[in-house]
Amino acid sequence: MKDRLELEQAERYQAHLVLPRIGATGQRRLLRSKVLMVGVGGLGCPTSLYLTASGVGTLGLLDDDIVDRTNLQRQVLFGTADIGKPKVHVARERLVGINPDVDLEPIEQRLTPSNAMDLVAGWDLVIDGSDNFATRYVVNDACVLSGIPLISGSVFQFEGQVTVIRPPLGPCYRCLFRTTPREQPACRDAGVLAPLTGIIGSILSAEAVKWLIEGDTALMGRLLLFDALESSTRSVRVKSDPKCPLCGKDPKIDRPTAVATCRDDSD
Ligand SMILES: [Zn+2]
Repeated sequence: MKDRLELEQAERYQAHLVLPRIGATGQRRLLRSKVLMVGVGGLGCPTSLYLTASGVGTLGLLDDDIVDRTNLQRQVLFGTADIGKPKVHVARERLVGINPDVDLEPIEQRLTPSNAMDLVAGWDLVIDGSDNFATRYVVNDACVLSGIPLISGSVFQFEGQVTVIRPPLGPCYRCLFRTTPREQPACRDAGVLAPLTGIIGSILSAEAVKWLIEGDTALMGRLLLFDALESSTRSVRVKSDPKCPLCGKDPKIDRPTAVATCRDDSD
């Protein structure tokens, strides 16, 4: 990693460099950052696009799925010719041309309770764009146990939500959803408005950039809710649960723990 921004970088990131909250110091910080994107689907595609263009140093792309025709309505890194190919490799091919500063690491694996700790180790930040509760709990557990901040997003039909998780600064996913919410069907079954994934994915990437640059905590302890039908946004305060089995006063969970068997394709 270079200490000074080179001329090409100064041009590329000019619109960041002139921002008072970012500037050269913030951009250098971004260029040194390592972010793991869990799920390269409806949320992972736009999030990865913006993080790549923004100039994160290393972007891990974790997904074991292949591109399916039903993905193409919203998973904007993939095209018709990619059907049947592994998502992470197609995504890397698309992203690599956008910004040579970014080291793209495709990780074609399924995240499970047994490999989650290894998969999140070494990253500065994890973003969860998976579409099922089983994965969300496991990612949450691994990040909380490892002390790695987690930005979690989800979409369902016309609604999306985002929160930032880093106990003890705020609640974890288990504080918010102690009991397993009723399993939601995958996007292709329940339906999702295509641009909604772009909106929520963009919010995820914005939160990531802010966190990496200055440890922004605006969405820590807050759940941001977006309703695409009403075109409205609201946020609700969420608190840590002292009885949380993971981040509470008397924790029972000491390793990533599955809570349900759910669909596992990225949305
Ligand atoms: Zn908790």
